[in-house]
Amino acid sequence: MFDDLHDLYQQMILDHSRSPRNFRKMEGANRRADGRNPLCGDQITLYLFMEGDVVKDISFQGSGCAISKASASLLTDALKGKSRQEVKRLFDQVHELVTTGKTGGDDVGKLAVFAGVHKFPARVKCAILPWHALIAAIEGKVEPVSTE
Ligand code: ZN
Repeated sequence: MFDDLHDLYQQMILDHSRSPRNFRKMEGANRRADGRNPLCGDQITLYLFMEGDVVKDISFQGSGCAISKASASLLTDALKGKSRQEVKRLFDQVHELVTTGKTGGDDVGKLAVFAGVHKFPARVKCAILPWHALIAAIEGKVEPVSTE
C-alpha cells in the first residue's frame, strides 16, 4: 500500500515536471520574484497578480530539476484565490512537510506528494525554492532569493 502511494506520488511529480501548469510569463503581474538554488541549478521566476490581499493569478517560468518544477507547478495550482494569510499558512505546512514528512494533521491536498522529500535532504531545497520565491513575491521584496 505504501509503495503504491509512493509510486503515485512519483508519477504526479513526473507529470507536473514534464507538463508544468501555469508555466508562462505573466504580462501585467504586479508581484514577481526570482529564486535560485545554486546547489542543484534550479532557477525560477514567479509572477503574481494580486488584488488587495488575494492571489488572483499566478504563473512561473524557469528551469531546474523535476522536484523544483513540480513544486512550482503544484504551488501555482494550489494558490489561486488564496489570501495572503492562507498562503503563509500553506507555506508553513509545506515547509514542515518537506523537512519532516508530516503536516501536523492538516490536509494539504495534492501538495502531500512532497512528503517523501524529507528523506532526501539535498532535495528539500529544490522543493521549497518556489515557496521562498512566493513569500518574497507576496512581501513585495525585490532582491532575488537564494536557498544559500
Ligand atoms: Zn533541484
